[in-house]
Amino acid sequence: MDQYTVSELEDALKVVKLLLPPRYECLACYVNRMLEHGCSGLKWCTTYRDLRAPRATSLERKFPELGGYCDCEVMANVFRINDELWTRGEDGELDESYVPPCHKVRLGTIRPCELWLMRSGVQWGGGVFRPVKDAS
Ligand SMILES: [Zn+2]
Ligand SMILES: [Zn+2]
Repeated sequence: MDQYTVSELEDALKVVKLLLPPRYECLACYVNRMLEHGCSGLKWCTTYRDLRAPRATSLERKFPELGGYCDCEVMANVFRINDELWTRGEDGELDESYVPPCHKVRLGTIRPCELWLMRSGVQWGGGVFRPVKDAS
């Protein structure tokens, strides 16, 4: 059996803490942050759900229906930046290097804060997310 010193365990806990959603941070802000650690399935979405919204059991069914089969697809297809609240550079382009802090949500929800728009049905947005296949 492996033995660890207290300081090793404390260091490990600091790492774990960075990977957990702080209280009141919303699902979208959390997953958006965590994607820098990579994407493997709905790992970050389900981590958030298990810790902050355990009753949102429909997540694994609902997100794929909306095009989110893994965490990065969730950020591409289920949530969208509510760009009024994100900083724009002088050229009017969205400055994605600056991520605003989460506006916070109540515990127990997988809905995003005001920084994000959430796709609420397959028809939502009327195809806004579909890539343009032909130029006509
Ligand atoms: Zn992915
Ligand atoms: Zn948020």
